[in-house]
Formats: sequence, C-alpha cells, structure tokens
Amino acid sequence: MILQISNMENGTYEYKFSVFQNQLINTKQVVLDVAFENPIEIIATVEKNETQIYLSEKIKTLHTFSCDRCLDDFAKEINSTNQTIFVLNENEIENNNDEFVFISKDKLEIDLTEGILESLFISIPMKILCKENCLGLCLKCGKNKNVSKCRCKIVQSKENWKQKLLSLKNN
Ligand SMILES: [Zn+2]
Ligand SMILES: [Zn+2]
Repeated sequence: MILQISNMENGTYEYKFSVFQNQLINTKQVVLDVAFENPIEIIATVEKNETQIYLSEKIKTLHTFSCDRCLDDFAKEINSTNQTIFVLNENEIENNNDEFVFISKDKLEIDLTEGILESLFISIPMKILCKENCLGLCLKCGKNKNVSKCRCKIVQSKENWKQKLLSLKNN
C-alpha cells in the first residue's frame, strides 16, 4: 500500500483504498490474531506543506467474531484511526516525539501498510463479547443463556445454601 509523494504539490488530498488483509504485506511482520474476512476500507487524508506531510487514516472493516462467553458468531465493525506526521527536515523533530517521523526529501513514496496493520492490531478487542451483558453458556447444561433460561443455577445455589446450613449445624 504505497502512497506516491514524489510529485505531490503542497495541498490536501484524500485517497480511498479497499484491500484484503492478505494484500497487506509488511516487512516488520506485524501479525494479527484475526484473519479479517472482508475488505479493509482505508481513507487516507494527506496534507503536505513545505516542511511536513501530515497523514491521517481512517480504517474500517466488518468481521464475524465468536463471542468469548456464549460462542455465538456475530458481526462487528472494527474502526480505527491513526495519525503520522512526516517531517522533511530532521532538525524539526522535537525531543524524539513518537508522532513525528523523519522522511528524506529524496524519498518518493510512503508505505502505509505497517501503520494500517498496527492500527488494526490495536483495534481488535482483548475480550470479544457479542454484547456487554452477554449471559454466556450455562456451565451445567451448556445452554446459551441469552436464548433460553435454564434452572441449573438456581438449583446449584440452593444446594450451596443447604450445605452451608449443614456445616453450621455440625459445628
Ligand atoms: Zn455472547
Ligand atoms: Zn443450565
């Protein structure tokens, strides 16, 4: 995913890309835990002036995840944004600020691939839930508690209560 900057005049530009994950080949070997099934939509805005190239990307895709709690499949939109400021004069980078990347004036292109992959990497949730209050599966009968109720839990807690009473009596 290459952005040509060699003949770019000062100004603001917008680019739209749509790529499949396997087309994003990167040298730093950013590996995603998820194989996105749908194309990844990228809107890149570039603002170029005498000293800097400001790059802002919006990244979006839709993916079918499996819920960590109830194991149901559900579609979830992944959204991510990132910004990078490419500085054409090295002296202008202030105190090793991570947001600034030096780019030589002789460089003809910017590779967007790694930034896109890193951004996707960050946007994959650690815990994947179909909804925040997902009830999950019953540990006893395995029923999806979002779909139908079972009485397993009630019986279990009564048994616990009985056991507690018994142990109190025995003491
Ligand atoms: Zn769920
Ligand atoms: Zn149950």
